[in-house]
Amino acid sequence: MGTDRDLIGEGPCPCGNGKIRVTRCSPDHPWGGEAWYENELACAACGRTYTFARSDQMLEKRDRLVLRKDVAEREEHWKEYLAKTRAIMAMPATQQMLAKATTLLDQQQSVAAKFRFLNHHGLAGMSESTFRKRFRDSDSYLKDLGAGSLRKIAAMIGTDNPEISTALADAAKCHERHSKPIPTVTTGISGLVA
Ligand SMILES: [Zn+2]
Repeated sequence: MGTDRDLIGEGPCPCGNGKIRVTRCSPDHPWGGEAWYENELACAACGRTYTFARSDQMLEKRDRLVLRKDVAEREEHWKEYLAKTRAIMAMPATQQMLAKATTLLDQQQSVAAKFRFLNHHGLAGMSESTFRKRFRDSDSYLKDLGAGSLRKIAAMIGTDNPEISTALADAAKCHERHSKPIPTVTTGISGLVA
């Protein structure tokens, strides 16, 4: 069994000295199958500046042309976000908050009571039966929730910490920058999104 390949789009690259080609591929089974697209940017200069990226539309199978710089920036924002959340988890104030939360959770007598308590504060995020299977101890459960749950943990223990809140707001900004869609470079070539 092979693959059917059809050249469905061809046009100049952004600098005009090379070409972009889009090939639609599909399995050549008699019963067909899902098609996919292969893109080629035949230009050394543009290859350094541009690359192809998935569409940000879920069911869209065609790709799009984007600037490498935009992709790299987005990755940087993500790395920065991860570094910031790691730093937040290592802060003494966070350690203290988690220790208090652990004590409070340990005071809930049964696993069922712990589940209800966490669920009430929006910190369970799973069914009770799944929780029963996964829960080992209060300390590791709370730590595994990560920086994204610290606001809720603060609400659970009833004390907010301005130092943590400021750091979380700062990390959220990196996350926001990372989540911004990467702009599409318009080519007008058939088989690409734009
Ligand atoms: Zn070019």
